[in-house]
Amino acid sequence: MGHMATETRILLVEDEASISEPLCSALEREGFTPVVARTAAEAIDLAHRTNPDVILLDLMLPDGDGRDVCREIRRDSSVPIIMLTARGTEVDRIVGLEIGADDYVVKPFSSGELIARIRAVLRRADGTVRSSEVMKIGDLELDEGARRAALSGESLDLSRKEFDLLAELVRNAGTVVTREHLMDEVWDVNWFGSTKTLDVHIGWLRKKLHDDSSDPRYLHTVRGVGFRFASDEEFQSAA
Ligand code: CA
Repeated sequence: MGHMATETRILLVEDEASISEPLCSALEREGFTPVVARTAAEAIDLAHRTNPDVILLDLMLPDGDGRDVCREIRRDSSVPIIMLTARGTEVDRIVGLEIGADDYVVKPFSSGELIARIRAVLRRADGTVRSSEVMKIGDLELDEGARRAALSGESLDLSRKEFDLLAELVRNAGTVVTREHLMDEVWDVNWFGSTKTLDVHIGWLRKKLHDDSSDPRYLHTVRGVGFRFASDEEFQSAA
């Protein structure tokens, strides 16, 4: 976090002034500092130059797709991104989260609803338990403080959510963690979607851990309950 903590900068990417203008006023009233981008190109430029704390990203922009903007920003930033979408189907939701968005709101939304989501992603971004200890399980190393994970010495390219999910599982290694617990801890107690998004993220995490879902080394499914991450002792005794 390279800038003064007193200012919370919000990059609002939205081409419709009828949405961005009242939203900016509402954000200012809440003490945030909004910056508006009206195109995909402007969004990418401002994301790099203004170092925002949160990005609100419209899906349909005059010069491109908000999802491409999200992917581009995610190449080198873990800034929380909330998608603003007019499409509410499950498929679009999953696609939005798959490309690295942290949350989404479906238009039309109230500024109050959006501000609650902003506060939730900021809380999660700030509230992460920082530990200087590097946890080691089998060939996996996890450094929570630095938000880095590596498998056999190779750095893992994880989204914010994937990292949070992995950290929560590793913290509870050797014990069963329920789906509800993971949704509460990694998403939000007010998360309104199904837990399908959890399965999607578990799938990506498995892939990155090179885990075979039918015979996993690390991430075990406990049917009807949740998941269990293997403990380091299991790896020691297997060796
Ligand atoms: Ca638009």
